[in-house]
Amino acid sequence: MTFRATVITLYPDMFPGPLGHSLAGRALERGDICIETINIRDFATDKHATVDDTPAGGGAGMVLKADVLANAIDSVEEPQPARPRLLMSPRGRPLTQKDVRELAAGEGVVLVCGRFEGVDQRVIEGRDLREVSIGDYILSGGELAAHVLLDAVTRLLPGVMGNASSGDNESFENGLLEHPHYTRPQVWEDRKIPEILTSGNHAKVEQWRNEQSIALTRQRRPELLNEPDRGETDE
Ligand code: SAH
Repeated sequence: MTFRATVITLYPDMFPGPLGHSLAGRALERGDICIETINIRDFATDKHATVDDTPAGGGAGMVLKADVLANAIDSVEEPQPARPRLLMSPRGRPLTQKDVRELAAGEGVVLVCGRFEGVDQRVIEGRDLREVSIGDYILSGGELAAHVLLDAVTRLLPGVMGNASSGDNESFENGLLEHPHYTRPQVWEDRKIPEILTSGNHAKVEQWRNEQSIALTRQRRPELLNEPDRGETDE
């Protein structure tokens, strides 16, 4: 099955962009995912192809017009059941690995990329857009946020990661940050690989990794240890 992503943007040339490379690039080539773009400007109705206007009530910046954006959204051909429609937005719920996993299990996604000060509130309500943030900072547009979301989804699609199990132990997948990694050479600038990792004792290695994982999480992200999702997958 092909995961179908439709990106509604003023900058369609930004896609696939970074998603055309490496793991995601190969997934695109194989057809595990397809990314189509819709140019919001194509739905402007005046001769200047206006997509934005000044904010009602005054203030700085411009706002994406509800009528133009709604026409762009309505142009998406949608077989039943409809894909989730997300608006990239710093006001949205912060994206988590759990959200990414849920999206990757579905048929696809429609992503609306804001620009300027954002989009007219009425189109968010009228088209049932779920606002999603990629973090507590402000980007100049939703396109990079869409890339982040699609990259995270793509690597979870069936067949995309060569070693299927390599997704399971990642940071956040079991509610913990991942343990440290090492590879050859055995000694680098007087630093040795922890002996346990080269002992050949798999049970001990597993135990060490788990302890490291918990210690790192406690030190850096203690709030993760209290989350209800913790322990959802095998540790
Ligand atoms: N005035 C808005 C910010 C607009 S930034 C506010 O203060 O909330 C312009 C566009 O960039 C937004 O419409 C959104 O689509 C995108 N964007 C900016 N920061 C983002 C973030 N952290 N996560 C997701 N999208 C973001």
